[in-house]
Amino acid sequence: MRYGHTTAQSAEYLRLALKQMMQQEAGLHPVSYAIWYEYVSGFNQRLKLAMDDHLKKYGQLNNDATYALYDEYVADLDEKTALRIGDSVSQLVDQVSESAGATGNQASRFGNSLENWSETLQRPSTGTGALATSVADILRGTREMQASIITLQQRLEESAREAQQLRQEVTRAREEALVDALTGLTNRKGFDNALGICLSGARPPGPCLLMIDLDNFKAINDAHGHLFGDKVLASIGNILRANVKGKDTAARYGGEEFAVILPQTPRGGALGLAEALRSIVAANWRKRGDDQDQQVGNITVSIGVADYATGETAADFVGRADRALYAAKMQGRNRVNLAQRTPGSE
Ligand code: GH3
Ligand code: MG
Ligand code: MG
Repeated sequence: MRYGHTTAQSAEYLRLALKQMMQQEAGLHPVSYAIWYEYVSGFNQRLKLAMDDHLKKYGQLNNDATYALYDEYVADLDEKTALRIGDSVSQLVDQVSESAGATGNQASRFGNSLENWSETLQRPSTGTGALATSVADILRGTREMQASIITLQQRLEESAREAQQLRQEVTRAREEALVDALTGLTNRKGFDNALGICLSGARPPGPCLLMIDLDNFKAINDAHGHLFGDKVLASIGNILRANVKGKDTAARYGGEEFAVILPQTPRGGALGLAEALRSIVAANWRKRGDDQDQQVGNITVSIGVADYATGETAADFVGRADRALYAAKMQGRNRVNLAQRTPGSE
């Protein structure tokens, strides 16, 4: 799992993050902690690159830059979750600094008693009785120091555990934010992210993109009800999930439109997959009634396939696949159509 940091790892990240945070102009606040945690754990490579870039240019992160980086690379959470996590991180940092402060005070008291003791020893008049008292003082001071350090260690462990729980909550919230509830596929936002990442490292052959739209779905809803329509969408989700693998991403693009990103598949393979998907979907469907199954007739999809033209933007790439899909609809639906390389000429 991406966030499976152990307690010991989290404690180390906490320590490294605090060290980095101290060197910035930005305040020691939860937002700053969030980006530095991701930075030192190496978890968020895109954020790390952006931070390295900024540090190279400006030397330091101020509050504006910290918030901007957080918004762009970390935030994707609903506001409530973010606030709750922010509060917990604040408490956590407070707890650690409180314990560290207490240990600091203890250490300086211990230092003072050591000084007194050494003065006492240097006095020629010091007798055995006074010496015994001093040794007892030192022992007491040492024990207090030990107790204080143990408390600090316990607090740190507790904080590291809490930090790990928070990370898991962030993961869950973030993953949920990228999943479509009805089909369990990647949602539109997740699709945009995946396509961006795919195109930034695009090497031929591929990537290819499939845009898939249910044919006459309005009529299916009208004839069998919206609930049945939802079940069809969920089934399409299952079919796509079962037929894409590895680095491929199947997404619900919106409404009754789906998309599949194939980062390393050449055009021929993409066309083959599209045709397989089309024919699996076109197989007969049944609607379960109380006593008997009712034949629903054909539920079909049309698919536009585009293979990436080096240098084109994500929007252009999607646009070409979409136009190929539209052309498949115009040609009679329940078919696969390959996008032309020259935009607008499908
Ligand atoms: P075409 O073959 O041209 O794509 O025809 P169509 O009827 O599929 O397209 P149109 O855009 O006219 O209608 C899309 C329909 O999809 C209308 C809308 O009610 C339905 N739809 C969109 N999202 C959902 C959903 O989440 N659940 C259900 N049941 N229906 C949905
Ligand atoms: Mg449709
Ligand atoms: Mg549609």
